[in-house]
Amino acid sequence: MTPHPPSDRPGDQDGRGADLLSMMKDRALTPTERRRMQRRGTQAKGYAAQPGTGPAGETCGSCDHLVRKVMAKVYRKCGLMRAHWTGGTGTDVLATSPACRNWQAIPQNIDSLGDRS
Ligand code: SF4
Repeated sequence: MTPHPPSDRPGDQDGRGADLLSMMKDRALTPTERRRMQRRGTQAKGYAAQPGTGPAGETCGSCDHLVRKVMAKVYRKCGLMRAHWTGGTGTDVLATSPACRNWQAIPQNIDSLGDRS
């Protein structure tokens, strides 16, 4: 019976496995891991409805529901989705996205709204 060759697996010999965490940091992502990461909150998808289902030529940027959260950066969110907002990109919207069916025009002259006598 031949002896097993020395193993490269962490933790097999002389404490080499103790630093498993640092080994994992330098490891490249597999294609599946990369896809999974890209799916999780890295794309703006905080729309109230499917983009493109609203009036032609309009965008989230021209919608009254668009909220610009000013922090260190400006984050664009849909006000109709406020209950679902997180601090991540997953609940952002793009101002350039085609309008959804909940699109609402921005009132042109706010003073005229109160002047209905
Ligand atoms: S068009 Fe308006 S209602 Fe629709 S997702 Fe964009 S900001 Fe929200």
